[in-house]
Amino acid sequence: MYVVVTGGAGFLGSHLCGALLERGDRVLCVDDFSTGRAENISEYFASPEFEVREIDVTSTAAETVDRWAPGRVDAVAHLASPASPPDYQRRPLQTLAAGSRGTENALRLATRDGARFVLASTSEVYGDPEIHPQREDYWGNVNPIGPRSVYDEAKRFAEALTVAHARDRGLNAGIIRIFNTYGPRMRPQDGRVVSTFITQALAGEPITVYGDGSQTRSFCYVDDLIRGIVAMLDRPVLGPVNLGNPSERTVRQLADQILSLTRSTSTVEYRSLPVDDPTRRRPDITAAADVLGWRPQVSIEDGLRRTVDWFASRAKEPVELSA
Ligand code: NAD
Ligand code: UDP
Repeated sequence: MYVVVTGGAGFLGSHLCGALLERGDRVLCVDDFSTGRAENISEYFASPEFEVREIDVTSTAAETVDRWAPGRVDAVAHLASPASPPDYQRRPLQTLAAGSRGTENALRLATRDGARFVLASTSEVYGDPEIHPQREDYWGNVNPIGPRSVYDEAKRFAEALTVAHARDRGLNAGIIRIFNTYGPRMRPQDGRVVSTFITQALAGEPITVYGDGSQTRSFCYVDDLIRGIVAMLDRPVLGPVNLGNPSERTVRQLADQILSLTRSTSTVEYRSLPVDDPTRRRPDITAAADVLGWRPQVSIEDGLRRTVDWFASRAKEPVELSA
């Protein structure tokens, strides 16, 4: 297959590029490097099957889509979007554009070639959920004008756009709703909880728990998640399909687990809870098991250990200056 991965230089996108190359696909990575990094994909540069183009997917230029990929593509995985709360709140308009114009362009490319299209949506479409765990038929509880809305509403619009292309144009499209995922290649300063706690613990700095730490998340190891995305690329499933690990824990429990894994002497400091921070989150993954035969395999203990090892091996490298 010839697969276009938008956002391919990011955390998830780079792992997806690697998995596709590994099984023999040709991969075109399209990225503007706003939150992604060349070092995430540098190991693929030597492969003749890998190509990268620096492009902003929100471009309105008429030839936009042909500039991405002049040749015929078999699949488009659309991941390009800021993803961590500090990233998308720093880039509110770019985030809305990535979900709307960026998704429209990616859909245009898939439509041009009759390709399979997969949208990387998010558990954030459920907002601060009143139903627990979250099933795909729950419509969510999103504040449309809160600080997270630029991300949540952009993804909800992207889902609507994707479904409309499937219904109205017969596009072979699918939607995955990704729940909190962690692993190697997260940016130490991306502000997400796993990367932040590990970085703080390894440096012996205080662990910053927001609120009282009783809010919950369910964390999926990146390798599991990528298997799910590949399964979705390979099957003509519209979804939406939740992809995540249902093993749920509080943020405070996560802090304790990371402190113990790193044998850190860091203290825990409590900070104010961000506005609209979801109280709890856990995926119901029945649909993923039924339609994709997918379920996560890596325990949080194993996944965190691998992630800590990766961060520790990089701890001596210079601190990043951008994004
Ligand atoms: P990331 O920030 O590491 O990757 C996003 C990539 O998109 C980056 O390489 C960035 O440079 C690129 N990008 C952003 N705007 C772009 C634009 N206008 N044009 C071209 N490229 C652009 O984040 P990630 O965690 O890898 O997330 C990837 C996708 O998965 C996102 O769509 C995100 O919403 C979704 N997602 C991720 C998680 C998670 O836990 N990691 C959870 C839910 C959804
Ligand atoms: N969080 C925290 N300390 C941090 C960063 C995040 O306590 O330094 C909390 C945050 O308030 C949220 C949870 O961890 O309740 C997950 O945050 P993250 O930004 O990783 O993802 P999201 O909120 O999008 O699920």
